[in-house]
Amino acid sequence: MSTRGAIAVPTTGKGWWGRYHHFDSYPTKLGAELFRLYHDTFDRDHEAMAQVLVKDHPAGWSTLIRIHSPSVFEREHFEHAGFMNLDDPDYGLYPLCYCHGQREEEEQVLTCRCPTDPTGCAPVFIEWAYVITPAGLLALTSWHPDPGAGQAFVHRPVAFVDWDRETEPDWEQAQRRARLIEVANLTL
Ligand SMILES: [Zn+2]
Ligand SMILES: [Zn+2]
Repeated sequence: MSTRGAIAVPTTGKGWWGRYHHFDSYPTKLGAELFRLYHDTFDRDHEAMAQVLVKDHPAGWSTLIRIHSPSVFEREHFEHAGFMNLDDPDYGLYPLCYCHGQREEEEQVLTCRCPTDPTGCAPVFIEWAYVITPAGLLALTSWHPDPGAGQAFVHRPVAFVDWDRETEPDWEQAQRRARLIEVANLTL
């Protein structure tokens, strides 16, 4: 399912910049995958994770969720990342980006200054965003249950997941918070 998201890093001051992610970008899929990638693939190195997921693939991702396996993609899989068509026999073996492989799309930068300036991050389009910070993963959504309040379509935080937590985060809860007008507590 196409659920559009961003994988990002913080900018100096408030906000983030990052890359587009096309498929299944909601918390129970992409959020959970990013948390597992941090631990299982990038060995708790948020800078290495941001380098590969945000900086090395300037046109963004079709998907980096490993669909045909219970485990996440490994570092060597990311070295072979590239776009493949569905009918390619190797489809799904590697992460699918838009800059390598069968696509050579141009760099696309999403820069978020929400709520002060909701241009540059396309909040109507980018439903979920994940910011890789030194302390944890910040999840934001642009869904809003009360668009009449004039608050629709800006990115707002719904969860902050400490990298060091011992248990699997409750990503369903992050998804449910998209239906709340106010999220008082970002812990999951
Ligand atoms: Zn690429
Ligand atoms: Zn934004």
